[in-house]
This record gives sequence, C-alpha cells and structure tokens, in this order.
Amino acid sequence: MRSLAIIGAGIAGITLARQLQGRAEVTVFEKSRDFGGRMATYKTGPYQFDHGAQFFTARSMQFQSLISNCVAENKIQSWLPRILTLDSEKKSFKREWSEPHYIAAPCMNSLCKTLALGLNVKLDTEVTGIDALEQGWLLRGSAEKPLGHFDWVASTLPAPQANELLPDCFIYKSELSAVDFSPCFSLMLGFESTHKLNFDAAVVKNSALSWIAANSSKQGRPHSFSLMVHSNNAWARTQLENNIDDVRHSMLDALGELVGYSLPLPEHSAIHRWKYARAETSCEESFLLDEANRLAACGDWCAGNRVEDAYLSGLKLGEQLQTLWRCET
Ligand SMILES: Cc1cc2nc3c(=O)[nH]c(=O)nc-3n(C[C@H](O)[C@H](O)[C@H](O)COP(=O)(O)OP(=O)(O)OC[C@H]3O[C@@H](n4cnc5c(N)ncnc54)[C@H](O)[C@@H]3O)c2cc1C
Repeated sequence: MRSLAIIGAGIAGITLARQLQGRAEVTVFEKSRDFGGRMATYKTGPYQFDHGAQFFTARSMQFQSLISNCVAENKIQSWLPRILTLDSEKKSFKREWSEPHYIAAPCMNSLCKTLALGLNVKLDTEVTGIDALEQGWLLRGSAEKPLGHFDWVASTLPAPQANELLPDCFIYKSELSAVDFSPCFSLMLGFESTHKLNFDAAVVKNSALSWIAANSSKQGRPHSFSLMVHSNNAWARTQLENNIDDVRHSMLDALGELVGYSLPLPEHSAIHRWKYARAETSCEESFLLDEANRLAACGDWCAGNRVEDAYLSGLKLGEQLQTLWRCET
C-alpha cells in the first residue's frame, strides 16, 4: 500500500487523513502537544479559553453534513450568544446573526481530537525537513531525527510555513508565496468573580481589538469567568515585533476603554501571538496538487480563511487523491 505523510493535525489535516485512511498508510505529524491547530483551546486552573477560532458557520452541504452528525453526538453545539457591536467612536448596538453559528463541545480543539480517533497521529513531532529519495520522500524532525519514508507528502500548514517546508521542486511555490497572512494576539483573562456584562460576545470596531467573548458563557465550558480578547489584525501587524508585555498592556487599555474600566483585576492573564492567524488573500484553488512530485498542500487559505474552508480543502484534496490512486492501480 502507498504511504502518505500529512503535516499538521488541524481540521484540514485530520479531514484529509480520515478521507484517505484505508486507501494508504497515513501518518499525521503535529508539532504541538495537542490536536486542533488554530481551533485551539488553552486550559489553566479553573479557566478555559478557545483562543483561536471562536465559532464556525456552515454554508456547504458537505460541512453541514459533518455538523449534523456531530450535533447528534453532542460534539458540536449551536451557539446563540447575546452579541453586540462595540465601537470606540459610536454607540454600541445589538447585532443579529443571519445564519447558525456553532462551537465544538466541550471545547474548540475537542472536534479535531474526536475526528482523529483511530488515526495514526504523532503529536509533539515537528517536521523540519523533506528530502528527496530515489523513490519518495524522507521526513526529518528536530535534531535531524528521521521520521520515515513516504510515497506522498501533504502539507496543511499556513501557506508561508508550507512554502518554507516544502521542497523547491514543488511546482506551486509561487502560489504559496502569494498568500498573505495577518497575525493576531489572543489575550486570555480569568477572573475570581463573575463580572456582569451586557453581552456574551462583541465584534469591536475602531480599536486595537476586534473581538471580546466571555468564554465561560459558552455551553459546556467551566463557569469560572473568563474573557477571550482578540486584537485587530491590522493593529497586530504593527505590534508583531514589540515586547509582548507592551502588547498585553495596550490590549488591556483598549478593553478598559470599551467596557468602561469597570472590570476587576484578572487573577489570570496570558497572551498568545499567532504569527499566521488569518489568510488575507487566498490562492482560489481548493488545494495544490503536484502529481509528478507526489506533493500537495491544502488548508483554509486555499479558498478562504475559515474553519469550513479548511475542512473543504482537506476533503477535496482527499477526493482528488482517491481518484488519482484509483486510476494508477
Ligand atoms: C485568533 C483566530 C481566530 C479565528 N476565528 C475564527 C472564527 O471565529 N471562525 C472561523 O471559521 N475561523 C476562525 N479562525 C480561522 C480558523 O481557525 C482556521 O481557518 C482553521 O482552523 C485552519 O485550519 P487548518 O487545518 O487549515 O490549519 P491549522 O489549524 O493552522 O493547522 C496546521 C497545523 O500544522 C501544525 N504545524 C505547523 N508547522 C508544523 C511542522 N513543521 N510540523 C508539524 N506540524 C506543524 C500546526 O501546529 C497546526 O496544528 C481563526 C483563527 C485564529 C488564529
């Protein structure tokens, strides 16, 4: 049976692995200690934070179908927060969502973890190099450790990281380098006592911030009051190389301005920097497949920048590889 290495255990990588399991010997390599990628969850003491994707929507039949199966099994829930638009220059107003919004349960990264059941996933294993062999590819890990020989390699990393890792012979290098990603800072605040806000989630305008959510108000999350605050992507670009404590203070100040400085001091405060948070441009293909070199790349940035785009990219690359392999045999 042919072998396939998938790099990354976010939603695109896990979806691709599920598609091809049984049709190839599939191994997924993930540099983090946990599943989910940018569908991330951070837990500390009594607090929990979904510090990457906040929710997802489903506009395609394929993603709706996954969602309805997972809703039936209680792995995904609808999310109906009290939502506002907060504007530092105007009066805040209530926002209505025109389509269903979903969250994974009990936390955001649990979805990839559940979908990965039965797959061969090597967590805590960063792929640092891909070397050509006479037949196929040799993957290297940290300290040059060999990670195995594979017939096929598929990257599900954000395009700039895929560009660095994939060999120069990959014919879609220029497509990868054309995708622009913006950064984001996620500020995670845990409070000893619950603070009453007039919203569960807020889209923020004209500020260093873009989003505030009471993570603890999401169904199934621990009750200890926790706030998840995201920076504005354009502002984050200007702060990328700044001292992280200065970034944290600027975000706390912006939060104070928006909620009227009435928040108590947090018991817990942490900040995460996403260097590659959101694709600002996409390559407008569902995936990039270099059949001659047996290399591929997929991920949200192929056709968008959302969880559903990542899912569809992994799914469609899987379908294409199945068709190709059927023709080869
Ligand atoms: C702050 C933030 C908020 C967001 N909010 C939303 C939202 O509300 N709704 C929405 O739909 N989308 C949102 N998104 C976007 C959404 O999270 C992504 O579209 C989606 O999760 C991307 O999935 P992916 O599998 O394509 O990539 P990723 O999730 O980035 O997966 C790539 C994986 O590869 C791993 N990796 C990287 N390098 C290596 C290596 N060398 N070796 C091994 N593994 C490696 C990474 O650790 C990661 O797990 C948000 C993203 C961020 C960062």
